[in-house]
Amino acid sequence: MGSDTAVKLPIYMDNHATTRTDPRVVEAMLPYFGEIYGNAASRNHQFGWAAEKAVEDAREQIAKLIGASAKEIVFTSGATESNNLAIKGVAEMYREKGNHIITEVTEHKCVLETCKRLEKHGYRITFLPVQKDGLIDLNQLKDAITDQTILVSIMAANNEIGILQPIREIGKLCHEKGVLFHTDAAQAVGKVPFNVIEDNVDLVSLSGHKVYGPKGVGALYVRRRNPRVQLVAQMDGGGQERGMRSSTLNVTGIVGMGKAFELAQQELAEESARLLALRESLRTQIEAVLDEVYVNGSLEHRLPGNLNMSFAYVEGESLLMGINDIAVSSGSACTSATLEPSYVLKALGAGDEMAHSSIRFGVGRFNTQAEVDYVAAKVVEVVKRLRELSPLYEMHKEGVDLSKVKWAAEPANQ
Ligand SMILES: *Cc1c(COP(=O)(O)O)cnc(C)c1O
Repeated sequence: MGSDTAVKLPIYMDNHATTRTDPRVVEAMLPYFGEIYGNAASRNHQFGWAAEKAVEDAREQIAKLIGASAKEIVFTSGATESNNLAIKGVAEMYREKGNHIITEVTEHKCVLETCKRLEKHGYRITFLPVQKDGLIDLNQLKDAITDQTILVSIMAANNEIGILQPIREIGKLCHEKGVLFHTDAAQAVGKVPFNVIEDNVDLVSLSGHKVYGPKGVGALYVRRRNPRVQLVAQMDGGGQERGMRSSTLNVTGIVGMGKAFELAQQELAEESARLLALRESLRTQIEAVLDEVYVNGSLEHRLPGNLNMSFAYVEGESLLMGINDIAVSSGSACTSATLEPSYVLKALGAGDEMAHSSIRFGVGRFNTQAEVDYVAAKVVEVVKRLRELSPLYEMHKEGVDLSKVKWAAEPANQ
């Protein structure tokens, strides 16, 4: 029996986009869709107390995974909101102190767009470049910090290429200079060890649905001591979450996120080893057969479940069509009607062609070795088939240096 007879199609291998809600999480949430429906802010009856208890238990579970205290966790609707609250909240609170914020070009859009908005409001933003391996240069960061700098925001793990930035060193540098450090850890927490004290972070954005919890719920860690971080709330209302985030708490979602983070804590060591083995199996099976494939970014400083590969001499769209029984992401982003090459891959120095012909595999909790074997075999088969049709690959095989080829001139502009 071939291993592919054991797999059920389609295969989900896009775990950086979102993860399946763990059945144990769903089970923990169910009572809160039904009989436990109180408002966690209702202080004068049992319905409210039951909801509040559930929220406080979840706060503990989340705090525990990152080495924080429960009081430092502020619930939000997701990492997008957490990033907005952290960056805009600090910008507004510390405006007297300075107007400079440092981030990097490969951040998630919700960090980049937040910074661009602040730029319109008179803040100065430094977007640090990354090196070919996807990591920022700590010396460049050091040089960028001025007496006007109030915040550094650098993500812990990148959602496209899985690169792990040296946050501990970044945090140390920030603290030496008296600058607050925020990290978007939506992809990192629950996948690699993370501790707010050891990692020297002041603000951390978290999301439920990247860690096998529900969508639409997240949290922001806000340090309370050494230093005590203050934020200007970005939503006005009833003053929930100690005034930092108004709106009635999403009790069901919070219960799910708490359970998901508890499971992540219990299983992290075993799971990260298993995902790393699956990821490496996928990579080595592909590389054993195909030439001209490239891993984008450092292999060493990377999330265990991430593999982002470019396949030279194939057209990205055709590749994706060929493997359409496997759910993955490509290095192209649909912006309006056109296919734009990924800005993250471009920041690493990839040309448009290589960015378009790249695939992000996100191996997760529910993937099996049989699925990895199927995916590897399928990718190899499709890439081989597409290359058989490629005159450029033919020339490459014949030893023609394509960079030296003089192509027929385009017709001149009329
Ligand atoms: C998914 C993701 C976000 C957005 O999180 P939501 O909870 O979906 O708002 C932000 N940053 C990173 C790195 C992510 O992977």
